[in-house]
Amino acid sequence: MTALAKDSDSRITIQKFGGSSVATPSRLKRIAQKIAQDRERWDGMVIVVSAMGNTTDQLLSLAQRIAPAPSGRELDMLLSTGENITAPLLAMALHEQGIDAISLTGLQAGITTHGPHRHARIADITPTRILSALGQQAIPVVAGFQGATKELDITTLGRGGSDTTAVALAAALKARQCEIYTDVDGVYTADPRTVPEARRLMTISYTEMLELATLGAGVMHPRAVEIGETYNIPIWVRSTFGKDDGTLITRSVVEDRQRVRGIAQETNVAKLTVYGVPDRPGLAATIFEALGEQGINVDMIVQNIARNGLMDLSFTVAESELAHARPLLEKQCSILGGKGIDSATDVAKISVVGTGMMHTPGAFATMFRALANEGINIQMISTSEIRVTCVIDEPSARQAVRALHKAYELETL
Ligand code: ADP
Ligand code: ASP
Ligand code: MG
Repeated sequence: MTALAKDSDSRITIQKFGGSSVATPSRLKRIAQKIAQDRERWDGMVIVVSAMGNTTDQLLSLAQRIAPAPSGRELDMLLSTGENITAPLLAMALHEQGIDAISLTGLQAGITTHGPHRHARIADITPTRILSALGQQAIPVVAGFQGATKELDITTLGRGGSDTTAVALAAALKARQCEIYTDVDGVYTADPRTVPEARRLMTISYTEMLELATLGAGVMHPRAVEIGETYNIPIWVRSTFGKDDGTLITRSVVEDRQRVRGIAQETNVAKLTVYGVPDRPGLAATIFEALGEQGINVDMIVQNIARNGLMDLSFTVAESELAHARPLLEKQCSILGGKGIDSATDVAKISVVGTGMMHTPGAFATMFRALANEGINIQMISTSEIRVTCVIDEPSARQAVRALHKAYELETL
């Protein structure tokens, strides 16, 4: 994405309001009042909105009732309508506050995307309409989660993608910051719905937040964090109707860098195993090339030690990819002379994230011991410089996250 670097003297802010924040007309009216107050502090404000409540889910299930695998182009046309409802409603609520405001679709906001439907990426932003609205002291209210290709086909940015619209606009407009308003008052050491003792973090680094978001912490869209890091945009995660503090996602973090910062869980995971395959060079390459050619992202991979010249290979994919991946693996298995394949969807990925984990002796073992103490079996393990991830049984996920939160003493400062 091309954009200018953040301007630290900028007097523009971007505020994004998520689905539950905009779920009802009365909430939209309260947001309009809040914007009216905040407006005094800025030369320009740009608002990004999500679809109201669970509209996007409802639109998806509507499509499912027509076709089991609808075309990506038509799905994007359909899904984008969710945000297209919120933007004009909020503009109307602002008008009621006596504020000049104009709603814009992603296309009107100049957001050009590339890549596949449903998971498009922002390629460029030409914010002509936004700048002219700002020039006239009006507030642009942009429909999040969407853009358009060069051919003017409407695209969406992946679930949770309104965050990415907001941060990308902050980069393109050289805004001072981007504020993500949601139903929690910041980024916590774990999903507060799972761990009531979870603690709000004052600050978190882009790297740690990106890792948590990618590993299932749904509070931020991972791509938004990536763009924030690239363009050095301070991102605040705050509660829409609560106090004004929150969590700052930034480069320099004031809290203890050595500590584990958070636990993430992802239950949208499927595990695939191909077993009894004659062991020879190029085997993994053959299997993963076939999956890669079909655009299937493979995550954790475990290959066991060959016995009697035979080996087993397990890996994980997003649960939504299973229907696509399974027949491909069956085909590869028979080509390679394997005994068969297996798949499971009742698995979850649990991750512990923190800068410096790799350099803290025993940091990984704490996870394994905590899971063992709960009688939870680890099916797969993967590690990086700043995290350790285990695949376990899905029904144990909640128990595992709570046990790990305790084991790493995350409830205490
Ligand atoms: P929005 O609709 O505003 O975009 P989301 O549902 O996408 O809101 O994200 C907010 C939710 O993210 C919270 O309600 C919370 O349950 C969940 N969440 C998951 N992990 C975390 C975390 N580490 N910190 C805070 N919230 C989290
Ligand atoms: N409405 C979209 C979704 O539910 C995008 C978003 O809310 O960020 O995924
Ligand atoms: Mg979200």
